[in-house]
Amino acid sequence: MKISEILSEGGKAFPSLEIVPPLKGMTKAELLDSIRPFMEFSPRYINVTRHRDEYEYREQPDGTYSRHLVRRRVSEVAVCGAIMSEFGIETVPHIICGGSDADEIESLLHDLRFMEISNVMALRGDSTVGEKRFTPVPGGYRYASELVEAIRRFGDMFSIGVGGYPEKHFEAPNMETDIANLKKKVDAGADYVITQMFFDNRVFYDFTEKCRAAGITVPIIPGLKPLSSVKQIGTLPEAFSLDIPMELVSAMREAGDDKEKAYRTGTEWCIMQCRDLLRHGVPAVHFYTMGRSRNIVEILRECF
Ligand code: FAD
Repeated sequence: MKISEILSEGGKAFPSLEIVPPLKGMTKAELLDSIRPFMEFSPRYINVTRHRDEYEYREQPDGTYSRHLVRRRVSEVAVCGAIMSEFGIETVPHIICGGSDADEIESLLHDLRFMEISNVMALRGDSTVGEKRFTPVPGGYRYASELVEAIRRFGDMFSIGVGGYPEKHFEAPNMETDIANLKKKVDAGADYVITQMFFDNRVFYDFTEKCRAAGITVPIIPGLKPLSSVKQIGTLPEAFSLDIPMELVSAMREAGDDKEKAYRTGTEWCIMQCRDLLRHGVPAVHFYTMGRSRNIVEILRECF
């Protein structure tokens, strides 16, 4: 079933889960066991992120360097196949512009069609290490809107989700421009938006209001991630260009070296955010699980 169809049913809000493909070496059984706890909540689908290939330069005996492809994670397509056959639920592979040209993306879409996958998330991806700005490969797509257009050439074969940034994408000069660019993705054929994580619901409500004023009418699904360690107070704002409210920062710092207390504080904050979002009538709440299930399962039990 397409996510656009699930969203248009307009029933009770549901949890949406995102996982990261495992590093190579993890077995299929281990991967499935890590997802199994979520099945208690009958998720309608699971998103699987895509990670750009990396290259390593190895010195040769003659002093020259040769380039080697390093794929650290199992592919998202393999993970989607494993989940679909074990749990019989829909999967949403993420597709990124970075690292692939238009022909490679078209081949990937044919593979997804063959696997009867009818949902995708269309994203640009980030720049690689050492690259100042995102640069497409020759013949690749520069913006996610171009990728959406390419996927729409397959007609209604895929329901398409795109990313939105309640605190603005870090490259955009201002929120208005970023929302105008989000609208380009929707105008190109995206069916819904999933937001970057945020820790203050007011930024999501303001963002949604601005999107509606700009003529974006598709569903906007908030993305949440519970903090699980004090360290993340430093790492997440840097990695995702977001703010963490002072109240949450202070509560996490109070936990000090008590890892369990920090974990609980992050989980409780997320429960509070999720309940408030549900009261505000969001169609679904998207959870960035980052390979952890204990805190997410607890949040789902409390909220859904
Ligand atoms: P775009 O929509 O292309 O926007 C990128 C920047 O370009 C923005 O600043 C935008 O304002 C600007 N822009 C867009 N169109 C134009 C235009 N026509 N002219 C000028 N400027 C323009 N990354 C991964 O690598 N793998 C994943 O699986 C993944 N999953 C994600 C899931 C979600 C829900 C979200 C929110 C993000 C995810 N990301 C993932 C991160 C994402 O790839 C990065 O945030 C990336 O920097 C931007 O991607 P985008 O699709 O939003 O890009």
